[in-house]
Amino acid sequence: MADSSLAAKVGAPSGAPPGTLSGNPSLVAVKGMNDILPPDSAHWEWFEDRVRGIMRRYGYVNVRTPIVEPTALFVRGLGLVTDIVEKEMYSFIDSMNGDALTLRPEGTAGVVRAAVEHSMLYDGGKRLYYIGPMFRHERPQRGRYRQFHQVGVEALGFGGPDVDAEVILMCRTLWRDLGLTDVRLDINCLGQSDERQAHRAALIAYLEQHRDVMDAEATARLHSNPLRILDTKNPAMQAMVEAAPKLMEFLGEASLKHFDSVCKVLDAAGQAYRVSHRLVRGMDYYCLTVFEWVTDRLGAQGTVCGGGRYDGLAELIGGKPAPGIGWGMGIERVLDLLHQSSIQPPAYAPDVYAVVPSAEALPIAMQVAETLRCAGVSVLMHAAGKDAWGSMKSQFKKADASGARLALIFGADELARGEVALKPLRDAQAQQTARLIADASIWAQELRIA
Ligand code: ATP
Ligand code: MG
Repeated sequence: MADSSLAAKVGAPSGAPPGTLSGNPSLVAVKGMNDILPPDSAHWEWFEDRVRGIMRRYGYVNVRTPIVEPTALFVRGLGLVTDIVEKEMYSFIDSMNGDALTLRPEGTAGVVRAAVEHSMLYDGGKRLYYIGPMFRHERPQRGRYRQFHQVGVEALGFGGPDVDAEVILMCRTLWRDLGLTDVRLDINCLGQSDERQAHRAALIAYLEQHRDVMDAEATARLHSNPLRILDTKNPAMQAMVEAAPKLMEFLGEASLKHFDSVCKVLDAAGQAYRVSHRLVRGMDYYCLTVFEWVTDRLGAQGTVCGGGRYDGLAELIGGKPAPGIGWGMGIERVLDLLHQSSIQPPAYAPDVYAVVPSAEALPIAMQVAETLRCAGVSVLMHAAGKDAWGSMKSQFKKADASGARLALIFGADELARGEVALKPLRDAQAQQTARLIADASIWAQELRIA
C-alpha cells in the first residue's frame, strides 16, 4: 500500500491511480547530479577501461563498498572540522529504523572500514582501487557537482615511502596513457600528530597577529582547524598564509627521512614536483606524504587528483593500527581536461550493420547475427518501426551513420541462393556475396573482422 503522506510529499495528485504522477510537471534530475548520456558515456567507458588497465599493471585489485555508510564513519574518520563533515554531507535518518546514514562523500573511509570489518590485512597489505559515485552538497559549478565520480586507490598495510612513490607514479602513468601532459605534481609532508601539534601552536600565534586580513571562515577555524586556513583560496589572504610558519620546520628526523625517500624515488623517475608548504588536504586523517595533481586548464577547479598517507585512520574507526595511503581522482575533471586538451577517445563503431529488407528475412538475419556475435563480431541489427522495416535507402543511411565497416544485406534473391550480400561501407571495394553458413569462425574469417 502506498503511504499517503509519501504521496503528498512527492506531489501525486489525489485520486490518481497508484504509481502515476499524471498531471504533474515533468520530473528532472536533482540539481548538481548529472545524467551521463551517449555519446559522452563512451568517453567514461573508455576512461574506465584505461584505468583498469593501469590498475592491473600495478597489481591493484577492485573493491566495491556501499554508497551509504553510517554517518559516524565519516564524522570519526574525516574529522568534525572539515568542509565535508561541516557542510557537504548528504546525511539522513533511515525512517525504517532510525539509523543515521550518509551518502559517501569520499571513498577512503568506506574502504578502510571494509578492510577492518573483514580483517583483510590478516595476511599482509592489500593494494585496492575503486571507481564510483560520491556525494557532496556543494554549490554546483563547472568541475563541482553534488554527485560526482572518483577513481581511487588505497594501499593498505604498507608503511614505507616506496608505496607513497608508487601511488604517485601510477597517476603519472595514467596521464601518459590518456595523452595528458598539463598536470603537475604538488607534494608536502604533514609529519606526525605531535609534530603537527607543535606547528599548530606556532601557527595559531602567528594567525592571531594577522586577524585583520582573515575572512570569517578562517577566523572561525583559528582554534579548531588552523592548518586548513593555509589552504584558503581567498586572494586577500595569500600573502599572509605564504609567510606563516611552515610545518616542514617542525618535522623530526623520521618524518623528514620518509619524505626524503619519496622525493628520491620521484627524482630518479624523472617526475618533477613542487614542495608546497600550504598543501594540507581537507581531511584530518592525513599524515606524512600528501599530494595533489593540478592543472591550469580547468579554471578554479584545477585539482584533478588528491591523496596522501593516513596511518591513523584504521585505528580511528575501531580497527587495529594499520598504515595506508591512497588518492582520489575526480573523473568529471579528468574528462573535462581531456576535452580541453582536444583528446578524443576513439569512437565506438560496430563491425557490421545488418540490413533487413523485409520481415521474411528476419529469422535468418537474426540467426546469422547471433552466430557472428558468438564469434566476437559486433553486429548492429536494423530494427523495424512499428509497421515497417524502412526503405533500403534509409537502412543504408543508418548503416553508414553507425560507423560499421560492413553492411550485410539479407535480400530475398541472395537468400534464395543461400547467400548474403556484403557491402564495404568505409572504402570503395565492390559489393560481394558470401555463402550463408552457420559456422561463425569461418564467417568471421570470411569477413576478415574477427
Ligand atoms: P576541492 O578543493 O576542489 O574542493 P577536495 O579537496 O574537496 O577538492 P578531495 O576530497 O581531495 O577534493 O577529492 C579528490 C578529487 O575529487 C578532487 O581533486 C576533485 O578532482 C574531485 N572532486 C572533489 N569534489 C568534487 C565535486 N564536488 N565535484 C567534482 N569533483 C570533485
Ligand atoms: Mg572540496
